[in-house]
Amino acid sequence: MVVRKPYLPYSRQWLDDDDIKAVAEVLKSDYLTTGPKSAEFETAFAQYVGVNFAVAIANGTAALHAACYAAGIQAGDEVITTPITFAASANAVRYCGGTPVFADIEPATYNIDPSEIRKMVTEKTKAIIPVHFTGQPCDMDEISRIAKEYNLVVIEDAAHAVGADYKGNLIGSISDMTTFSFHPVKHITTGEGGMITTNSEELYQKLLLFRSHGITRDKNIMLDYQGSWYYEQLALGYNYRMTDIQAALGLSQLKKANRFLHRRREIADMYTAVFKDTPVLQVPFQQEGCNSSWHLYVIQLNLEKLKCNRKEVFEALHRENIGVNVHYLPVYKHPFYQQNGYQDVRCACSENLYNRIISLPIFPKMTNQNVQDVIHGVKNILERNEK
Ligand SMILES: *Cc1c(COP(=O)(O)O)cnc(C)c1O
Repeated sequence: MVVRKPYLPYSRQWLDDDDIKAVAEVLKSDYLTTGPKSAEFETAFAQYVGVNFAVAIANGTAALHAACYAAGIQAGDEVITTPITFAASANAVRYCGGTPVFADIEPATYNIDPSEIRKMVTEKTKAIIPVHFTGQPCDMDEISRIAKEYNLVVIEDAAHAVGADYKGNLIGSISDMTTFSFHPVKHITTGEGGMITTNSEELYQKLLLFRSHGITRDKNIMLDYQGSWYYEQLALGYNYRMTDIQAALGLSQLKKANRFLHRRREIADMYTAVFKDTPVLQVPFQQEGCNSSWHLYVIQLNLEKLKCNRKEVFEALHRENIGVNVHYLPVYKHPFYQQNGYQDVRCACSENLYNRIISLPIFPKMTNQNVQDVIHGVKNILERNEK
């Protein structure tokens, strides 16, 4: 009898007893919601990426929403982003009444193509949201140059890029604002959670307001001050606070971020070593001068050399309990966008990529045996289907 291997997901968290202990300590303390642990987590995260300010927030989507708000995005404004991302990168623009505009990707890196950004800039463009897809940094020099030329705000979506570096700087320290996610599939987790980093005191203050109803208790920015009970609502914000329960987990996880990152890079190297000379697939191209944080390991099938399509490969791997995934359907292809003005959008590179990609399992807790199982599974299916 063949013993079926247990299901291997494409990603999952890694929690240890020390993480659980850190959370339990908060549960026994006075503060459950935003308090000393959140502040500690913000300071530690800002130090980690090398930036002046960090704002902990309910999740990565709220981080994008807050950043769009702080950038002043409103009705009539256009914001350029990539189709190859999670829907939240574009949705955040919509939350503020703005219009996401999709610029196609570079065929090699799968990241937004700066020359496509240039083509999409209009008088209405206010910001660019580059997404470091899989953890590979975008061409930030060129994106910064375009932003400067047209006076645009840059919000990096770094949900995949905790620990990635671009020309010697950690992602999170480069643009006006950078957003992170601590969902369990991401590099470090707080269950749900997110962070925005910035070097601007002005943006920092806006982000703080937005996170908590637009309300302040800071005498220096109030219009009036009536007594020590007094607070003022200065803008229309949300309740997007992170709890101290989550922040304690985040702090504990952050201590392991570099160890997790190292392991992700080891796994990526194991895949690349085996797959780089396989003619039926392409391994992820790595840009010089950057280091990916390897949130995802995406293989691209050379369909011309195969007798089967992506779906068949995907399903064959799932039959072997290998939890591969697909990241992403181009955002404008979702019914919501198709029904709201995007039916004529065509980003040829993104659409072509979508039909060919499979995300292999990659997460720090994977064993070398798990990696070998994936390698064998992929090799077997592709060898059987080679033309
Ligand atoms: C995960 C993710 C988000 C959203 O983060 P949440 O914490 O799940 O809200 C945004 N953008 C990208 C690219 C992501 O992968």
